[in-house]
Amino acid sequence: MIPSDRQAGSRLPENQTADWRLRQVVGDTYQLSKIGGFLYLFGWAVIAWLGDVMAFAPRVTLAIGAGFLLLAFLRLWMRPPVDGDSAADRRWLLQFTLVLPLASVLWAGVQVWILLDGRYHGDIRMVSLIATIGYATVFANIYSTVRHLAVVGVCVLLVPVLVALWSQPDDRALAAAMSFYSVYLAGALVRSHAEYRRRLRLDLALREQRDLYEHLSRTDALTGVYNRRHFTARLDQLAQRASLGGAGFALLILDIDHFKQVNDRYGHVVGDACLKALADRLQRAFAPYPALLARLGGEEFGVLFEGSEAAAFSAAEGLRHDLVMRPLECDGQRITVTASMGLGAFSATAHGDGDGLYRAVDLALYEAKGLGRNRVKALQPANA
Ligand code: GH3
Ligand code: MG
Ligand code: MG
Repeated sequence: MIPSDRQAGSRLPENQTADWRLRQVVGDTYQLSKIGGFLYLFGWAVIAWLGDVMAFAPRVTLAIGAGFLLLAFLRLWMRPPVDGDSAADRRWLLQFTLVLPLASVLWAGVQVWILLDGRYHGDIRMVSLIATIGYATVFANIYSTVRHLAVVGVCVLLVPVLVALWSQPDDRALAAAMSFYSVYLAGALVRSHAEYRRRLRLDLALREQRDLYEHLSRTDALTGVYNRRHFTARLDQLAQRASLGGAGFALLILDIDHFKQVNDRYGHVVGDACLKALADRLQRAFAPYPALLARLGGEEFGVLFEGSEAAAFSAAEGLRHDLVMRPLECDGQRITVTASMGLGAFSATAHGDGDGLYRAVDLALYEAKGLGRNRVKALQPANA
């Protein structure tokens, strides 16, 4: 079935922009989060080993390790919806935003414990602080996809540490340095989020450009139906499919009778308007069927009809009568035109390929012209 091919369309789907952006954010956020959970686990393993934490708090050591491991796998397990709509994407993003900072909360707890518990010596405190700074920096840069997620993650990591450091008179210098770095990080976070949004806008603009060029490359500029290039490609596809035992189809070629006279009498602007009006009539005539319409050039149109030659014949006859009965509205002029048409169903044995069918139907069209115009000439004599 080719109903979506009826006409080339003229507009890019604007309402999909926000959904597309959300899809990108969801995909990027998930991809970027994959290894982060294991980094916390690694950090804790190093601290536990250097500080010999197993010796004085074995259960807590294992519980914290298990907590990081669990949260790391939970992230991986929370895959984004594959073909979800924007509501599903939004739901996933909310859930993920709630789950993601849990590892940071656990790490912040560990960090505060290390800072306040006298059993940890200076090296461990420094190593853990460097890790905390690293995690906060990564959070600020990686989660530029969702600004509030980055803000929550960074605050969860740094605020408890700053409070703990400022509360200890001996740690004032460290506290001041950490505070200074936190301010810098806030600026970096805002900047990297702005960068990410800019990249998304650029991606979107490129995508729209690509869609527009694709659209233009298969559309006839005057009438908005498909152009000859797209028509020929589709004809070949359908012929190939039918040759392999797939569904059959029929081809109709329409040429306006004595159209030169319309131009001579009313001028080319009115003539162009007539071509547009005729394309509209053609679309309406074949609207109930799966059909692809194209302007093949000049005042010649083609229809690829997915159905029997008999059904195509009655649609073509309906159009022919309609043209005779109702004048076209052409730039303020009401002009009656008639059309001659050639029609034929594809047969692999008779025509070989799409080009073979085209030649046969084109001959039928010229027979229709020779027989006096304003008629449909079908390849099957029963319909002629
Ligand atoms: P018939 O088909 O019945 O033999 O006569 P005809 O006068 O229609 O002859 P033909 O199909 O050869 O005519 C083509 C004419 O269509 C020539 C030209 O004046 C007109 N034409 C072709 N392309 C355009 C177009 O883009 N705009 C306008 N206004 N006229 C066009
Ligand atoms: Mg003509
Ligand atoms: Mg012609």
